[in-house]
Amino acid sequence: QAPLRVPITLPNGLTYEQPTGLFINGEFVASKQNKTFDVINPSTEEKITTVYRAMDDDVDTAVAAAKKAFETKWSIVEPEVRARALFNLADLVEKNQETLAAIESMDNGKSLFCSRGDVALVSKYLRSCGGWADKLNGNVIDTGKDYFTYSIKEPLGVCGQIIPWNFPLLMWSWKIGPALATGNTVVLKPAETTPLSALFASQLCQEAGIPAGVVNILPGSGRVVGERLSAHPDVKKIAFTGSTATGRHIMKVAADTVKKVTLELGGKSPNIVFADADLDKAVKNIAFGIFFNSGEVCCAGSRIYIQDTVYEEVLTKLKEYTETLKVGDPFNEDVFQGAQTSDKQLHKILDYVNVAKSEGARLVTGGERQGDKGYFVKPTIFADVKEDMKIVKDEVFGPIVTVSKFSTVDEVIAMANDSQYGLAAGIHTNDINKAVNVSNRVKAGTVWVNTYNDFHQNVPFGGFGQSGIGREMGDAALSNYTQVKSVRIAI
Ligand code: NAD
Repeated sequence: QAPLRVPITLPNGLTYEQPTGLFINGEFVASKQNKTFDVINPSTEEKITTVYRAMDDDVDTAVAAAKKAFETKWSIVEPEVRARALFNLADLVEKNQETLAAIESMDNGKSLFCSRGDVALVSKYLRSCGGWADKLNGNVIDTGKDYFTYSIKEPLGVCGQIIPWNFPLLMWSWKIGPALATGNTVVLKPAETTPLSALFASQLCQEAGIPAGVVNILPGSGRVVGERLSAHPDVKKIAFTGSTATGRHIMKVAADTVKKVTLELGGKSPNIVFADADLDKAVKNIAFGIFFNSGEVCCAGSRIYIQDTVYEEVLTKLKEYTETLKVGDPFNEDVFQGAQTSDKQLHKILDYVNVAKSEGARLVTGGERQGDKGYFVKPTIFADVKEDMKIVKDEVFGPIVTVSKFSTVDEVIAMANDSQYGLAAGIHTNDINKAVNVSNRVKAGTVWVNTYNDFHQNVPFGGFGQSGIGREMGDAALSNYTQVKSVRIAI
């Protein structure tokens, strides 16, 4: 039998105890069938530890615990209790920020620079959710003097939450924060490649005063745990972040029990540079737009459009700037871009490099693996692409960007909107009228002007088109976790 906790020395020398069991009803436990899987460090390709693998029967136990906790504890307490617990949790994340950031860099491969940013947003977001918890008021509705009519917002019940590997802890917070604030309980499945930070954070939930059964964490595969959660009759909502293909499938499975479904899916977001922009600033923003978090970002600005009069100038600057970005050991403080998260991702990305070359795209820089140990890819730029190429259409989810030329606003809007996705868009210009006009016309859930990948805990985030359903963060996230009840009393 594998241990339920293991001592780990992080690559930067910090030591901590990593829980390795399933977190069910306030305890770390072995899976009933005693199944396990290994967790790999993508920078070294070495095993970090072994974690228990949840199966169908563990899902059923966790859902039952979450249902009981919903009915007997979390949905019936005064909202102020939930607020206080979320504030405590935010404080504990802050207190453990260096450990959490290092766990994330070890498990996911992202640079410390990225994981520290993630952890900072996690605590801000949990605090923001705590602030909402006791302000979810309903309405009194005037329906005439013969009635007293009001509506209130009620929680949904047990929420199944399935998250990806690119922002493991951040997605944990985006999922549990609004669910807990509104009185729901959760069974959350981290991605198989990155379960460590969510398990570590489960202990913080307990320490914060969140009762047993309110948060349950089940590492395991999508095909087993994800499917069971999506089909389970006692799970009232599925919140999913990941690929569009898996999101589509989950929606179909969830249809049988008419679950509420929110999806945060893929993207192929356009990042537009107009000739009147501050070009040096724009170059930094478009590079950050794609190479941040090793390009493993659903809203990555993976299609760059540069106005023809400055095309060569911006492309040259972008190449020069990109080549200064340091790639390598995520624990090296100078490193901007760490490892890709898995062997599978590394090969997917390298395959797309070959696709782009065979389609006739011009390789400007990168286009290869860095070193032969660890899943490192050099930041890659393909220029002079055609809009119907696969490299322009498909989400690569890595540090690869395409660059095309445009001349007019109408032309670039047509190019930007020619995608099944609609998660984000970037506009770089010093003309406020153009910024607003293009923002209005571009089909995207988030538009960044003279910035990119710039998240804020109170700003809703989510997709148009096949990029998803529902919004995360801000007040929009809370309505994903409540249902309205209207009460009409005849007097
Ligand atoms: P995925 O969508 O298959 O995995 C995301 C999560 O869904 C994981 O927790 C996984 O275990 C779970 N899952 C998988 N199959 C499931 C099923 N049948 N039922 C329920 N849950 C299931 O993504 P992936 O295979 O890890 O990556 C493939 C591609 O997806 C990436 O290359 C990238 O393009 C995209 N992706 C997008 C995001 C995003 O944030 N939008 C995140 C990760 C991956």
